[in-house]
Formats: sequence, C-alpha cells, structure tokens
Amino acid sequence: MTTSCWGVVVAAGRGERFGGNRPKALIELAGTPLVVHAVRSLRAGGCMGIVVAAAADLVSVMADRLRESGVTGAALVPDPVVVVAGGSTRQRSVSAALEAVPDDVRWVLIHDAARPLAPTSVVRAVRSALSGGAAAVVPVVAVVDTIKSVAPDGLITATVDRSGLRRAQTPQGFERAVLIRALEMSSRSGHELTDDAAAVAALDIPILTVPGDERSLKITTPADLVIAEALLTRSPS
Ligand code: C5P
Repeated sequence: MTTSCWGVVVAAGRGERFGGNRPKALIELAGTPLVVHAVRSLRAGGCMGIVVAAAADLVSVMADRLRESGVTGAALVPDPVVVVAGGSTRQRSVSAALEAVPDDVRWVLIHDAARPLAPTSVVRAVRSALSGGAAAVVPVVAVVDTIKSVAPDGLITATVDRSGLRRAQTPQGFERAVLIRALEMSSRSGHELTDDAAAVAALDIPILTVPGDERSLKITTPADLVIAEALLTRSPS
C-alpha cells in the first residue's frame, strides 16, 4: 500500500473581505504571494505533490507566479505543483483539486492559501497523526476571548463556555478516499461548509486534533497582513 501524501492549496477565493482588486492568494507578504508561502509550507512539511485550485481566469497567472518563485518548474522532476481551476465555493475548489491528485495517493492535506505561515512542525504533526492511523486530523488553537452569543438586535443572550472550544486551522489532513466520500455526500446535501473536517464529521468518522500554531493566522483583512509581516521578520520559517 502506498503511503504518499499530497497537498491541496485552495486559492480560488476572491478575498472580498480583504478589499482591493487583487485576489487574496496573489497578495504579497514580504514580496512573495500568499499562495507561494502556502505551497512552500506544504513542501517543507513533506507533501510529495501539490495541487493549487485557482480562480478559472487566474490559472495561468498563478502557475506563472509559482514558477517564478521556484517551487515548481523544470528544475523539479516530476513537477510537483499543478494548478487547476477551482469552483464557486471553497468546497467545490477542494473537490476540483482532488480530481488532480493521483489515485494511488493515500493522504491529502488541505490548506488555505490565506494561511501563509503554517509552521513545518504543524504540517508534520498532521502527517504523523495520519500515519498513526487517524483518518482525519485538524490542527487547533485555544479560544482566548470570552465568547458571547448575540441576538439580531445586538443584545447578548449568553456567555458561551469556551473551555471546550478550539479554533480550527489548516492544513487539515485526511485519508483521500474518506475526504472524497465526505465531500460527495456534503455536495448532495447542499450544505455549504467552511472546512473539510465538517464534511467528514457528517460521516461519523472520528477527527483527531493536533496542536496548531498562533503564527498560522488566516489573512482576512489588511491588518492581518501587517501582523504576518511582523511574525515573518521575527521568526522566519
Ligand atoms: O473565504 P475564506 O477566507 O474562508 O476562504 C478560505 C480559503 O478558501 C482561501 O484560501 C480561498 O482562496 C479558498 N477558496 C477557494 N474557492 C472559493 C472560495 C474560497 O479556493 N470559491
């Protein structure tokens, strides 16, 4: 049985919350597009091949950026990074990318292009939990704020006990066949999910957590980019 692991980087979002007219995955952090940082994290963590899901009209632009960065191209044979057209939702982008992962690959790591600073240690922890027998693995970090439930009129209705709450990060790791089954079921149900583990949870498959890392923040607003620049300067990964 093969034990190979591939990565998927979902980069087809429009990044509307970030503002501006450039897709978020092409925004530069320390002179390098976010998508390139994300691909580098997965490669450093041992993914043998990587599929990037880009917006359909940006497939060739993104392939060019990746080639220029040196993470792909003729120097690496076989070329380990391919770019495909994503879909209208994150879930569809993941499904499109999975079609380009070879059938004999056993594990896949699904990573947001919007998380450029996932440390190698987190990628390795996810992979090692998969090798240890888990079918689904999610890196998580503690919730530090007090969480309030708020009604549409703005009034607080409850204070949520945060002790059992965690924030889910990526890369999330899966047995490839399990994830494909979960996404097929989820797309039939019509529910739109914000991460892949939620689709697997619907199959009643246990999902293991491993420690994530605060540095692996998701770039959503320009302020996040300022924080990421500072983190990169202090602790280059
Ligand atoms: O919108 P959000 O920040 O949750 O997106 C998370 C990740 O999913 C981003 O890296 C984004 O590029 C990706 N995505 C995608 N295809 C979509 C929507 C989002 O690949 N249609």
